[in-house]
Amino acid sequence: MNAHTLPPVSAGTAPVVALRDVHKSFGPLKVLDGVSFEVARGEVTVLIGRSGSGKSTALRCIDRFETIDSGEIEVCGLRVDNPQLDLRALRLDVGIVFQSYNLFPHLTIEENITLAPHSVKKVPKREAKTLAARVLEQVGLGDKLHAYPEQLSGGQQQRAAIARSLAMQPKVMLFDEVTSALDPELTGEVLKVIEALAADGMTMVMVTHEMGFARGIADQVVFMHRGKVHEAGPADILSSPATPELAQFVGTGL
Ligand code: ADP
Ligand code: MG
Repeated sequence: MNAHTLPPVSAGTAPVVALRDVHKSFGPLKVLDGVSFEVARGEVTVLIGRSGSGKSTALRCIDRFETIDSGEIEVCGLRVDNPQLDLRALRLDVGIVFQSYNLFPHLTIEENITLAPHSVKKVPKREAKTLAARVLEQVGLGDKLHAYPEQLSGGQQQRAAIARSLAMQPKVMLFDEVTSALDPELTGEVLKVIEALAADGMTMVMVTHEMGFARGIADQVVFMHRGKVHEAGPADILSSPATPELAQFVGTGL
């Protein structure tokens, strides 16, 4: 049941991300059961739903960490479901940040950030360092270039992980519950960075349980339930859900 239809993509502009009737199973377990949604340039799509509803799998399919069984996924004009896809080209366009920040513990923050631009994009070392300084400034960590991850708080490490992604200058950012592992008092500083990115026009798809934040930032909310897009629309659907499932979800906040 789809009570709300997806909002149309602005005329003449190709969506940055499009999923069309995507199906994905792990063995007998159907995890994505005909998922479709589009993300327009400069817009923020927030994916919500209970644990196990398929949110992370949907994100991972966008970046081809998982292959799909049927349907289509298009990202920045690339067909992700094409087995011949140039994965490197895809990963240059898409930045992804997970719940665990996975910074290399033996490298400084600057080294963590310059690594991929230098080795993957062949950005010269000096330029990569300038870039690192800029993205760290952007996430409010301008003074942490030479610190090691363990010297930073969880919130700072997550901001550094976001900076590392930004240094690759992606066209779209995917965030999967990036604040879930943080103490509540550290959540705000990470959400603030994401908010600033959105205000700056970054296209993003974000899985979050922070409903207040979702309400404020989302151009589009996609509610997943049992592997389907059960309800989707503007942030208003969080205040006036059309389906009992979404009503229950926002009511309980689970
Ligand atoms: P969500 O992010 O909404 O909590 P997930 O996409 O992580 O949901 O998972 C959806 C379902 O798929 C869950 O039942 C999960 O256990 C299962 N699942 C996810 N990844 C795998 C995998 N690699 N192998 C088998 N089952 C998986
Ligand atoms: Mg998940």
